[in-house]
Amino acid sequence: MNIQHNISLKKYNTFGISVNAKRFISVTSVYQLQQLLKVEKDIFLISGGSNMLLTKDINKLVVHIDIKGISIDRENHNDIYLTVNAGENWHEFVLWCVSQNYGGIENLSLIPGNVGTCPIQNIGAYGVEVKDTITKVEAIEIETGKLVQFSNKECNFGYRNSIFKNEAKGKYVLTSVSFQLTKGNHNLNTSYGAIETELTSKNIENPSLKDISNAVIAIRESKLPDPKKIGNSGSFFKNPVISKEQFEKLQDKFPNIPSYKVSDSEVKVPAGWLIEQSGFKGKRFGEFGVHEKQALVLVNYGNATGKEIFELAQKIQKTVLDSYQISLEIEVNII
Ligand SMILES: Cc1cc2nc3c(=O)[nH]c(=O)nc-3n(C[C@H](O)[C@H](O)[C@H](O)COP(=O)(O)OP(=O)(O)OC[C@H]3O[C@@H](n4cnc5c(N)ncnc54)[C@H](O)[C@@H]3O)c2cc1C
Repeated sequence: MNIQHNISLKKYNTFGISVNAKRFISVTSVYQLQQLLKVEKDIFLISGGSNMLLTKDINKLVVHIDIKGISIDRENHNDIYLTVNAGENWHEFVLWCVSQNYGGIENLSLIPGNVGTCPIQNIGAYGVEVKDTITKVEAIEIETGKLVQFSNKECNFGYRNSIFKNEAKGKYVLTSVSFQLTKGNHNLNTSYGAIETELTSKNIENPSLKDISNAVIAIRESKLPDPKKIGNSGSFFKNPVISKEQFEKLQDKFPNIPSYKVSDSEVKVPAGWLIEQSGFKGKRFGEFGVHEKQALVLVNYGNATGKEIFELAQKIQKTVLDSYQISLEIEVNII
């Protein structure tokens, strides 16, 4: 097996953090992965590297998942069932589906990362979560090397959450994801965020999948930094969910505090607003900082260390907690 020694992980993570991998291997098939797992169990997995902040060198074997391939399992008049291997790039898969007129994931255009990792935090954007299209996830159990399957229900999906972030964390390598997408009668979702405004500005009344995908891409490009230009990992914090009671108390003190209803007893407060009000938006500290347009995004201007960015995140958490009694939960995996 082609194990490389002492390589920098800078080009394998979108934050662009340079830490050393003592040993590194890219795997391109399930068979190769199973052979590897017979002899190596203490591994660190990396796919697109877009949801991690590397704060130290990695002494475990770094396994880069690069298993490619898309297959059509079956289809009927309304739906198509596909299985996609873990190493396929997510955005390229979305664009391919849009070009084939397969509907359901067009709102998730331009999310970085790979297909195999999309179930882990149940990626979501613009009113759509990937869980609504996933039928099955296939994985190798690290301990036994066995190929196992998780039904949608068994994945236990929630907001930016799944079984793979909880009881199954660290126990499996996800190898493929199966989807059910629509072939006609698409369930279009244009009500969220600025999609409708973007479509109206282009005089589009009856949008196609491609129109929605293009609108999402345009909005995301105008708001979020491109990791190829400025290192980042997207939203660094989750939007906190608090009780209605706590929210009403905060509203007395901060009448402009925004919220979204979650249930009769809970509301979601945009973490970006809390960070902006705490004075961090656009703040630069040498090689790292908080993005100027999006307070939820921490950035590496070039040569920051993961430790520096993590310390900034902790400072933000403390300031928000002191001012609003809300604890911000980190969305990115801190390694
Ligand atoms: C600019 C930007 C915008 C973003 N916008 C969004 C957004 O709108 N919505 C959203 O939900 N997310 C968003 N994200 C976060 C990110 O794109 C997703 O979390 C994505 O699914 C991560 O995929 P990845 O392949 O890069 O995972 P990685 O970062 O490689 O891995 C994530 C975690 O999974 C583990 N892992 C890697 N591969 C495997 C595997 N095969 N099996 C098991 N575990 C594995 C890793 O060790 C790590 O703990 C954004 C990120 C960026 C940089």
